Amino acid sequence: MLKIGCHLSSSKGFLHMGKEAVSIGANTFQFFTRNPRGSKAKPIDEEDVRAYLSYAKEHEIERIVAHAPYTLNACSADEKVREFALMTMKDDLERMEYLPGNVYNFHPGSHVGQGIEKGIDWIASLLNEILTPDQHTIVLLETMSGKGSEVGSRFEELADIIEKVECKEKIGVCFDTCHVYDAGYDIAGNLDGVLKEFDQIIGLEKLYAVHVNDTKNPFKSHKDRHEKIGEGYLGTEVLRKVVHHPLLAGLPFCLETPNELEGYAAEIKMLR
Ligand code: FE
Ligand code: FE
Ligand code: ZN
Repeated sequence: MLKIGCHLSSSKGFLHMGKEAVSIGANTFQFFTRNPRGSKAKPIDEEDVRAYLSYAKEHEIERIVAHAPYTLNACSADEKVREFALMTMKDDLERMEYLPGNVYNFHPGSHVGQGIEKGIDWIASLLNEILTPDQHTIVLLETMSGKGSEVGSRFEELADIIEKVECKEKIGVCFDTCHVYDAGYDIAGNLDGVLKEFDQIIGLEKLYAVHVNDTKNPFKSHKDRHEKIGEGYLGTEVLRKVVHHPLLAGLPFCLETPNELEGYAAEIKMLR
C-alpha cells in the first residue's frame, strides 16, 4: 500500500494530525517538531501521544516524518549557532522517543564561506554528539537544492557526512524531488539514472523518506521554491513515476507543496 501524505501543522497535537491525515486520504504525514523559526518546543502531551498511537494503528499510519526547524545551521561558523542546533536536535530526539520507529529530517546546513569540507565536518561532529545506538529514531539528511552555500546538494556530500558518522544505523537520507532537480539531478529526463547514482554513491538502503514537490524553477536553478504538483517544471507524470517507482516502494512520500488541506487531498488522490 502506497504511503503518501503531506506536511501538516502540529499546533493542535498528534491526534489532530492523525485525523487530518485520514480525512485527506493520507496514511503518513510530516510535521515540524516546533515552530519552524526554531522557538521553544511545547512539552510532550503524553495523553495526546497515546491517543494518537492507537488511532494511527487503527488507521494504518505507519511511518511519520518529523522535520527540524529549517533555521538551524549545524555547520555555521558561529559556535553559538551550532550549539543551538545541537541542543534543539537533541531535545527533539528525546521527544521523538515517545513515538518510536519514525524518522527525523533536517537540513544539513550552510557553510557560509568556510567551504564544503569544513561544513561536512561540523555536521558529522554534531551528529556524533547526538546519535546514540539505542535511540528509536533514524535521523535523515535532506537532499538540498544548493541555494547559497548549502551543504548536501550533491549525493557525494551526503555520503561524506554519513561516512564520518559513527552510529551509521541511525542515519539516513530524505530525497526531495524539488531540491534534487534544482540541484542538477535530472529526475524528469532520467529518474532511473538518478536513482542508480544515488544507490552507487549513498546506497538506496539509506533512503528513508521522500518529499514530493514540483518546482517553480528550471533544472539546476539552485532555488528551492516548491510548486503544486503539475504546475511546475517536473509535472504530474514524473512525480507519479516517483511515488510508484519499485525501488522506492514502502517509503513514506510527503507533499510539501503550497496547498491547504483540500489541495493536498486532491494531489494525494491524483498521485495514488
Ligand atoms: Fe525540508
Ligand atoms: Fe523538503
Ligand atoms: Zn524545499
